[in-house]
Amino acid sequence: MPQNLSSKLFAVAKEVIPGGVNSPVRAFKNVGGEPFFVRRAKGSRIEDIDGKSYIDYIGSWGPNILGHAPNVVANRIHEVAKEGISFGIPHPAEVEMAQKIIDWVPSVEKVRMCNSGTEATMSAIRLARGFTKRDKIVKFNGCYHGHSDSLLVAAGSGALTHGEPDSAGVPRDFANLTIVVPYNDPETLEKVFAEEGENIAAIIVESYPANAGLVFPKPGYLTLLREITQRYGSLLIFDEVMTGFRLGKAGVQGLENLTPDLSCFGKVIGGGLPVGAFGGRADVMDMLAPVGPVYQAGTLSGNPLAMAAGLTQLHELEKNSGFARLDRLGAHFESGLHQLLAEKGMPYRFNRVGSMFCLYFTDREIVNVDDVMKQDLDLFKKFFWGCLDKGVYLAPSPYETGFISLAHTESDLDDTLTVFQEVLQKI
Ligand code: PMP
Repeated sequence: MPQNLSSKLFAVAKEVIPGGVNSPVRAFKNVGGEPFFVRRAKGSRIEDIDGKSYIDYIGSWGPNILGHAPNVVANRIHEVAKEGISFGIPHPAEVEMAQKIIDWVPSVEKVRMCNSGTEATMSAIRLARGFTKRDKIVKFNGCYHGHSDSLLVAAGSGALTHGEPDSAGVPRDFANLTIVVPYNDPETLEKVFAEEGENIAAIIVESYPANAGLVFPKPGYLTLLREITQRYGSLLIFDEVMTGFRLGKAGVQGLENLTPDLSCFGKVIGGGLPVGAFGGRADVMDMLAPVGPVYQAGTLSGNPLAMAAGLTQLHELEKNSGFARLDRLGAHFESGLHQLLAEKGMPYRFNRVGSMFCLYFTDREIVNVDDVMKQDLDLFKKFFWGCLDKGVYLAPSPYETGFISLAHTESDLDDTLTVFQEVLQKI
């Protein structure tokens, strides 16, 4: 078979970039193959450098909620760039962005912009430690919060032991300060707080865990997190990097009617440009430099292009009742999928909220990451490659959430279901 341009370029990329990629999931390692290289992307489609087009359900891993390269956002970036690309001194769009976030998310009284979700969660953790004058944090097994040292920590061997470094290069001393507990397990959480509560600065949680597919909290679980942190004087940090500005104006906290102390954002608020933000209670946020003693900074933070792209995207979502439309598209996809898989009679679980979804090949209820790990991975791989071959690009990993955008039409979704049906027939 003649080599295509993507695989030729991947061979070159591997010579000059570790693994050929700038972020590991892009290497398609979880599905045992090689990635394609993108030539361009528009609307619901992404086209590779060999000229093949796919219906895309990744949307750059979440930011592209209007679809790829929407004209309004691209035009706004061009306009703004002519006036300056980075200033490093305050400019009005930073204030507008802060006001917009505060307006949409009631728990946020003050907010600071940064450049990635990783920076947002890392900074929120430092702030919580500085505010509470405590060092330990609690995170959940299967939740991903970016790659800062305190958060690249996996569960230790016993429920109450401290975490283990989840990457070479993370000092054990950092991992010792991160307690990793199973998600959706109230008893273990109570035990951890009974033993360590006075030393815990914060719980950080993905508001709906979406880095192990898509997992939902059991009824009352998020309320317990709120209540237990209040009981012990710890802070509650909602990581809404993925869910924020995607599931509604106020993200999961809006859906669940909860008030975390701090929240982390990214993705959608940057319109596809590098962005992150963290915000919350004013008394906590005012611990940040230059007002308070907790240092946090960024040369490019509040970048005018990212602010303009993000604000334009938020404006479009609001103008077009975007969240309601995304939910309708998601529901359409879900009902078609249930019909198709019920007819097929194969075990599966389909979790969806609004425009985020995950299909699992398992008959287990998905309560936490242990259930996610028990799905049929071989089947997933075959399904992934079968769909890709037929022009449907799903996340190249069974642990990722799929995203529908406002550029997806019902007929895109129906075509996708037809592809699913054809692929499942063969495997
Ligand atoms: N938190 C969550 C919930 C995420 O999904 C991610 C990335 N997918 C991050 C944090 C890290 O964001 P970034 O990749 O922008 O650093």
